[in-house]
Amino acid sequence: MAYDDSNIFAKILRGEIPCNKVAEDDHTLAFEDIAPLRAVHVLVIPKGAYVDWRDFAATASDEEQAAFTRMIAQVAEVTGIADSGYRVISNIGRNGHQEVPHLHMHVLGGEAVGPLVDRS
Ligand code: 5GP
Repeated sequence: MAYDDSNIFAKILRGEIPCNKVAEDDHTLAFEDIAPLRAVHVLVIPKGAYVDWRDFAATASDEEQAAFTRMIAQVAEVTGIADSGYRVISNIGRNGHQEVPHLHMHVLGGEAVGPLVDRS
């Protein structure tokens, strides 16, 4: 899928839409989800234009990929959930129920997150 730069996270990255920033580095931005599903619900996105994991793994630099991974751990630290535990989720494509076509990780915690997936 080609990257569509009209997606909501691209607008956040361009500063056209505000966000509650949690952490940032040269390659990655972390901000609060607008509709939190747990006490802590942070989205981690690469600043580059990547639709999904296939795109990111194939074309992002090693530096970008390392920054993305480290930012997840940093978010857990700054939100205080590193010790109590948390879940990291990435929804990809139609079956993954990805709504925003810019790669992102959900970091959820601050309370019990529940079963991995709905069994229905
Ligand atoms: P997806 O289903 O693509 O994995 O998740 C997209 C997430 O983006 C949802 O959890 C949704 O609440 C969040 N989201 C959608 N629009 C906005 C927005 O304008 N700002 C923020 N901070 N989060 C958003």
